This record gives sequence, C-alpha cells and structure tokens, in this order.
Amino acid sequence: MDSADIVIVGGGCMGAATAYYLTQLGAGSVVLIERDTQLGTGSTGRNAGGVRHQFSDPANIALSRESIALFERFEDVVGSPIDFWQDGYLFLLSSEASAARFRESVTLQRSLGLDVAWLTGDEAARMTPGLDAEGVIAATFCAKDGITDPNGVTMGFAKAAQARGLTIRRDTEVTGIDVDGGRITRVRTSRGDIATGTVVNAAGPWAGRVAALAGVTLPITPERRHIFIAHPEAGAGWDDPRFAGRTPASRLMVIDFDTTFYFHREGAGLLFGMGDPSERPGFDLTVKWDFLPAVTEVAARRLPALVDAAVTHAWAGLYEMTPDHNPVIGPLGLDGFYGIAGFSGHGFQQAPAAGRVLADVMLGRDPRFNLAPFAFSRFAAGPASGEHNIV
Ligand SMILES: Cc1cc2nc3c(=O)[nH]c(=O)nc-3n(C[C@H](O)[C@H](O)[C@H](O)COP(=O)(O)OP(=O)(O)OC[C@H]3O[C@@H](n4cnc5c(N)ncnc54)[C@H](O)[C@@H]3O)c2cc1C
Repeated sequence: MDSADIVIVGGGCMGAATAYYLTQLGAGSVVLIERDTQLGTGSTGRNAGGVRHQFSDPANIALSRESIALFERFEDVVGSPIDFWQDGYLFLLSSEASAARFRESVTLQRSLGLDVAWLTGDEAARMTPGLDAEGVIAATFCAKDGITDPNGVTMGFAKAAQARGLTIRRDTEVTGIDVDGGRITRVRTSRGDIATGTVVNAAGPWAGRVAALAGVTLPITPERRHIFIAHPEAGAGWDDPRFAGRTPASRLMVIDFDTTFYFHREGAGLLFGMGDPSERPGFDLTVKWDFLPAVTEVAARRLPALVDAAVTHAWAGLYEMTPDHNPVIGPLGLDGFYGIAGFSGHGFQQAPAAGRVLADVMLGRDPRFNLAPFAFSRFAAGPASGEHNIV
C-alpha cells in the first residue's frame, strides 16, 4: 500500500493553495487527490472571479485582504502569471435594511483601514456606463476590489507545489477514510489505498460527503448558481463603437444587492448572474434555461443593454453553503482530519490566505489569525453571527 504524510482531497483552489503552503513549509510527502481528469473543474472553474474587501465579518475582510495582496504580486511570489483587474466592486442598495447593514459594514471596513466610498445612486450611475440606478438609495465602492483568474491561480499554486514535491493524482476518487481510535489511518481511493495519518478535506460542495466518509457530520450544502454570458448581438463585442456607453468598458463588478443580480465585463462579452430563490440544495449542474427570463427581467431594469443582448452561453456551478455563510478552516473533530471548505460562494478570492492559515495550523505554527469564526466546533454551539454580505 502507498503511504503519505498528508492526503488532500480535492483539486480546486482550496486544495491547490493548501498544497502550495504545505510543500513550501516542508510538510513531508503530500498527495493531492482529484476525481476529475483536471484540477479546478468544480466550483473553482465555474465562478465569477470576483475578489473584494467588502465583507461584514472582520475575519472575511482579513482573509480577502491577505489574498488580494498576494494576487497583486502572484507572479513574483508563486511564479506564474494571472489575469488580475482591480477595477472595483460597486454594491447598489435599494432597501433601507440593506443600506443600514452596509453602513455598519463600511464603518467596520474603514476602521480596518480600507478605502470604501459611500455613494448616492446618481454617483453610482455616473461611474457606470449603461447603469439605470432608479430606486438605488445608496451604493458602496472599493477601488481595490476586482476580478481575477480562477484557473491561473489554481494551476499556479499546483505547479509551484509540484516543483516542491507534491504528488497529484487525477482521475482518482476518494471512496473511504479509515479511522481507528479517533485517528485517521488510511484513505481508500478508486485506484488503491494510501496509509496516512493526516487528511485535508478540500472537497468544496462535496465536503459534507467526504467528511461523512470519516463519520464526521459537516453542515455544507450544495446550491446551484447560474452564470450567463451576453454579447450585444451574436458575433459582436461590447467594445464595438455601435454599442459604446451601453456597458462599462472596465471590469468593474456591479452587484444589485437586494436582488443579487450582478455583472462585469468578461472579454468582449458581459458576465451576469443572480441567485434563484426557488433553488433547493442539490448537486444538479444542469443549466435551468427557464430561469433566464427572471434574471433578464431584473437585468433589464438595471442594465437596459441586456434587453436586446444575445445570451451566447451559460453554465451552472455549486455554492458550498454553511448555516452562517462562513467556512471551516482547521481541525474537523478527529486526530489528523482538517477542513478548508464551506466558503458559501465567496471562497475563490480567499483561497490564498485560507491555504496559508490552514498549513500553519497543521504544522503547529502560529497562524496569526483568529480562527474562532471558522472553527468546526461553532456548529455544535448554535447560531453564530457569520457573514451578511453574501450574493
Ligand atoms: C456561479 C458561482 C459564482 C461564484 N463567484 C465567486 C466569486 O465571484 N468570487 C469568489 O471568491 N467565489 C465565487 N464563487 C465561490 C467559489 O467558486 C468557491 O468558494 C471556491 O471555488 C471553492 O473552492 P474549493 O476548492 O473549495 O471547491 P471546488 O473547486 O469545488 O473543488 C473541490 C474539488 O473536490 C473534488 N472532489 C470532491 N469529492 C471528491 C472525492 N471524493 N475524491 C476526489 N476528489 C473529490 C471535486 O471534483 C472538485 O474538483 C462562486 C461559485 C459559483 C458556483
């Protein structure tokens, strides 16, 4: 039987970031197992690429802040280039309740030294070509937020970790985790067993299932979310002079918080999405095309250019929801079992800091981070305040 000091389950951004920091710290033999033929095809390969400082929980602000600082220097530090645009995030607030909540968040963000502007609807409209800000009572903007590149980040971490000895097993599914006397002893896979004392559960929306293999209940539920890509007409891009001023030319991310409709430029097209209130937990990734009219109805109010646009393609991915919308980073209730999962739809941007913190915890180093909001034990303790600014 093969053996490894550490087995990581899941080759998305979390598994790759954890592998990067573990191998950098000389953690011994590390094996990353991914059931797909490639890395980054789970939620990581299906997300909108947004990175932001604008959270309500200080722990999430800290994770994003450290991660964005790394994105700014990714090629110098990790060794591979990534596509990274800091054109800002604009949150549009159309109800007194969300304006009041964001007031509190902005006060917190500013107290932590972040430069976040509080704007009127008119000011938001002036900075966003094509936006209809009717009914927007306030908006927030942080210029250091932006859009980056999930594939580049994941592959960059994985490649650098491989150069330091990481073994990657693709096309391999973890089917069992053996536990003896409260300790991890072995991982069973579709391609043979691996003796190990340490397992990292980085299985994203499937992390609850992987935890169950070890007899641990981890409350992470999968929730389908759609992304659509639109062009002004088939074969044309928004930079075509015929469509000038109908959408932002920059990669500004605009989020209509009260409906969760969001959009940003994606190359020559426009990426947009919205949460579906009727969606129930499940692993189905089929595109629900009959949801598109509900999205375009909201979209047409905020970005009228979308009324006549051609939706050229769409895909669905899974959010990995926890009850308080915060992740688990750290021990998972058994000796040698760790988790980095449950980021509730905002994990990609936090992978660098989350991976760094988890590697420190696993190796007995000071993570320089208060992990209480992300502790597994909080689920047994009852409702925690968690993160409010989720989309
Ligand atoms: C539509 C959409 C938009 C989003 N937009 C954003 C955004 O703008 N910004 C942001 O920060 N986040 C966003 N997210 C959230 C983000 O994508 C996730 O938080 C993040 O990708 C989670 O990464 P992960 O590595 O934990 O999970 P994943 O990328 O899903 O990786 C888990 C991996 O584990 C593998 N796996 C599972 N079970 C097993 C097993 N038994 N054996 C072996 N392998 C296994 C899977 O195949 C998968 O590759 C969005 C998500 C969606 C769906």
